[in-house]
Amino acid sequence: MRILIVEDEPGISNFLKQGLEEESYAVDIAEEGTKGLQLALSGEYDLLLLDWMLPGVSGIEICRLFRKEYKDTPVIILTAKDTVDETVFGLQSGANDYIKKPFHFEELLERIKVQLRPKSGEHSIFILGDITLNTATHQVFKSEEEISLTQKEFALLEYLMRNKGIVCRRTRIIESVWDIHFEYNTGVIDVYINALRKKLKLGEDENYIQTVRGVGYIAKEV
Ligand code: CA
Repeated sequence: MRILIVEDEPGISNFLKQGLEEESYAVDIAEEGTKGLQLALSGEYDLLLLDWMLPGVSGIEICRLFRKEYKDTPVIILTAKDTVDETVFGLQSGANDYIKKPFHFEELLERIKVQLRPKSGEHSIFILGDITLNTATHQVFKSEEEISLTQKEFALLEYLMRNKGIVCRRTRIIESVWDIHFEYNTGVIDVYINALRKKLKLGEDENYIQTVRGVGYIAKEV
């Protein structure tokens, strides 16, 4: 899952980025509105966190323009404004939620999780052979055994399992699991894939994470 933060106070955006990365999200930051709007409209994000007051284009305006193109991607507005009218204005612009500054990270995190919660018909549990991944509890099991993964390993496995049966291109994996500043040294993916295969103790007959030469990877039951 990839989140865009548009926030002109580096103290806040860096703090959020660090906290969200610890939760396995990939996070990009834009420090002013014009760049933020440009990144938002790239369509590469699963959720936007927009500060209201920004140099360039305001968070509300980014939200309004973004909504014309993307109906379903959640948007949360960060704001110091707190009168009722302004909150209504924020929601009318197409935002799904707002949070007033100053806020506790835990509260924002919960609001993000609510927005990214699987919609009815979707699942939070993914299954690949005897591997089970639960996005709600952030746990991975191989048969009965819980497997301890790093945040990036978890995010990579989640991406592959969400796309089970589909070839995942290296560039798409990087865009989803790592952030925009990640160097396109795709050899890093191989390192993580090998770590996953090892931690999941994939035997000879359990080639659940297969290499598609020159393209990327595919998760599938053998
Ligand atoms: Ca601001």
